[in-house]
Amino acid sequence: MKKILFLFLILIFQNIAFSQNIVVEQVRLELSSRKEAKILIPKSEIKDINVLAKTISLDYPKGEFWLGYVNEKQYKNFLKLSLKHSLYTESYTKALTMATNLSQMSSWDRYPTYLVYDSLMRRFATTYPEICKLDTIGFSVDNRLILALKISSNPHSDIDKPKFFYTSSMHGDEITGYVLMLRLADWLLSNYGIDQRATNIINNTQVFINPLANPDGTYAYGNNSVSYATRYNANAVDLNRNFPSVPNGGHSDGENWQKETLAFMAYADSNEFSISANLHGGAEVLNYPFDTYTSNSQSHADANWFVSVCQQFIDSISPLAPSTFFRDVTHSGYTNGGDWYVVDGSRQDYQTYFKHSREITFEVSSDKSLSTTQLNNYWNYLKGGLISYIETCQKGLQGYVRDSLTNEPVRAKIFINSHDAFNSEVYSKASTGYYYRPIQSGIYSITYSADSYYPKTIYNVNIASNSMNNQDVILAKIQDNLRKTEDNKFLINIYPNPAKDLLRVSLPENSNIFSYSIFNMLGIEIMKGRINDMNTDISIKDLNKGVYMIILGGKSIKFIKE
Ligand SMILES: [Zn+2]
Repeated sequence: MKKILFLFLILIFQNIAFSQNIVVEQVRLELSSRKEAKILIPKSEIKDINVLAKTISLDYPKGEFWLGYVNEKQYKNFLKLSLKHSLYTESYTKALTMATNLSQMSSWDRYPTYLVYDSLMRRFATTYPEICKLDTIGFSVDNRLILALKISSNPHSDIDKPKFFYTSSMHGDEITGYVLMLRLADWLLSNYGIDQRATNIINNTQVFINPLANPDGTYAYGNNSVSYATRYNANAVDLNRNFPSVPNGGHSDGENWQKETLAFMAYADSNEFSISANLHGGAEVLNYPFDTYTSNSQSHADANWFVSVCQQFIDSISPLAPSTFFRDVTHSGYTNGGDWYVVDGSRQDYQTYFKHSREITFEVSSDKSLSTTQLNNYWNYLKGGLISYIETCQKGLQGYVRDSLTNEPVRAKIFINSHDAFNSEVYSKASTGYYYRPIQSGIYSITYSADSYYPKTIYNVNIASNSMNNQDVILAKIQDNLRKTEDNKFLINIYPNPAKDLLRVSLPENSNIFSYSIFNMLGIEIMKGRINDMNTDISIKDLNKGVYMIILGGKSIKFIKE
């Protein structure tokens, strides 16, 4: 009996090993023809989802399985985890009808060929030159164009209005958003001066729309088809794992920054977007920062703002949508990214953390490459949400930061006290001093600070809901004549440092310094007083332990309170 059982177990074991060997061969075959393969891993096999997410490009749960993408390198590392898996192949029974000329796009029920896409983008700019400009963000690995439309009441200059950025399909096989973005651009442009909402958006916001972020992935099988599109770019790299990782900016995916990634980073450098979204597919959910952390380990300072704009989006979905729409991941229709699953190197976190923007990932259709017969329906379901998200740029706080004497613009840090954290602060534009800060309504204390200027805190700034609030600020420059005296740091001395109860300030003769201010590291002034002597003792025993700045004349000196 025992012998039989033993034999039986050996047979099962060999059978599994044998079938896994076949799977490995199948995956390798797929990799050799497509450079990427989709694999299904039973949920029961996965001990730590975040280890798996760091090894492969984890996609979404599908029933009892997780779907993941691998390139050759990722697959090699994945095999070391010894997880049972199978190759996932999609059968293309649905219609992915292509528009092979511009007029076939007019009913919005086809995917454009690459050339039709290119012509359509150019036609927007030539049909509406007063409100639309075509930008080239850069080129893909295979030298396809990465394009963006800039839609604004003055598209040829950078005006002082919030900048909003939509981009879609950085995963080349997630193409519902591709057509939605083209259609949104068409709706905005053709309704300017006709529809109040479109007109308000264009008059009050600089809107940038990049419908296709990974053209090599979408057109992996040639410019005339989107069937068999790949998630990855032409180097088999997942672009949504390829951005500098938070917080150290490293290459968490072990890949060089791809041409597409570098192009987007440069575009974000030259256009400081305030609010953005990147559109994906495979699920129906809005995913807000951070992807890198669960909400328990590091939530965004504006988490309540994110929740409220997500709710606004969900409330704007058409009642015609099926009741299951945007319910496949969470009941609310939105989630913190890391609470769903942790991902490093996403563009959402890059924009939000490094660029001080606010970016949400929109997963717009459970079916990644929606059948063309469904494209009109999805536009009707999502149009309201897509428009309402742009309209969030019409709410919050804006203003100018300028020099008190010259009225010149100042690039300043705008920090909401007892609120901002982990890079959530915003900056004013160097060219004009204009800033925009999206934020939930409330009463805030805000500190404006810049190099060579005294920081300034404005208390009780009342930000009303559903409107744009204005707060202009002038900053006083630390005076040069005082600075010259103090540049010789041997002349000004503070000691001991660190200090416990008393801080002695020792000044040279005729220093012309008669007062001091002490700021905490948030730039808030917490003490000030007179200096009457060459040696003045300041009592600091009531200060909390920490690092402070003392400003003497024009000079700021750091000290530590023990
Ligand atoms: Zn995606």
